[in-house]
Amino acid sequence: MSSFKKGGMFILSSPSGAGKTTLVKKISKNKNFFVSISHTTRLPRPNEINGKDYYFISKNHFKKLIKKNQFLEHASVFNNYYGSSKKMVIEKLKQNKNIIFDIDWQGTRQIRNKNLNYKLFTIFILPPTKKELLNRLIKREKKNMKTVKKRMKGFNKDLSKWKEYDYVVINDDLKICYKKIMQVIKKKKLASFDRNFIAKHVKKLML
Ligand code: ADP
Ligand code: 5GP
Repeated sequence: MSSFKKGGMFILSSPSGAGKTTLVKKISKNKNFFVSISHTTRLPRPNEINGKDYYFISKNHFKKLIKKNQFLEHASVFNNYYGSSKKMVIEKLKQNKNIIFDIDWQGTRQIRNKNLNYKLFTIFILPPTKKELLNRLIKREKKNMKTVKKRMKGFNKDLSKWKEYDYVVINDDLKICYKKIMQVIKKKKLASFDRNFIAKHVKKLML
């Protein structure tokens, strides 16, 4: 695909388990796209690598970084802290690179409110059904039902934030969903989606 001359910020958010991390990794394989690697105080999953998936740090360390104003945004999600490194993001943007964020609605709001002088495009990912989301979480969390339950508890609240995003897409078939997102990203301008259809889909998910 063609690379952009000026860097932009692309945020993917969703209820936990809808597939944004998977999609962000796929998008980052395109030329000139880089993932913003967040800091977190949560423990790594067995397949996660420090410095690649996240910077895994202690709560104390995280609090120090907040005090030093090192985060572009940060939030508490599922009883852990998560934050995006200001330095890393700004450096990449200055180099005309595109940054993809896998962050929640709180972080998205903070970045939006900063009104940075770079293009910002926000994308919300929905699961096809609640049951499928549950299955994906159980698979990913290796049947750790305590974690799965905690994630599912936040489902409705996370879901309700879809209206704040520029583009909303259902991640049923991964390839199709990725293709739709890349079409929007390539256009680099506001894309339309069927709002009524999505609103009905969200209503069903909330039942
Ligand atoms: P999130 O980052 O939104 O919490 P993940 O990207 O970690 O979600 O995906 C949750 C699980 O679902 C992972 O095991 C992933 O491999 C799987 N997954 C993602 N997208 C799909 C899809 N379209 N179909 C089936 N499984 C998927
Ligand atoms: P997970 O623990 O599943 O990797 O992520 C949990 C939630 O935290 C997801 O909604 C994810 O998008 C969000 N998240 C990950 N990194 C950041 C970050 O740097 N900032 C914010 N605000 N949320 C993040």
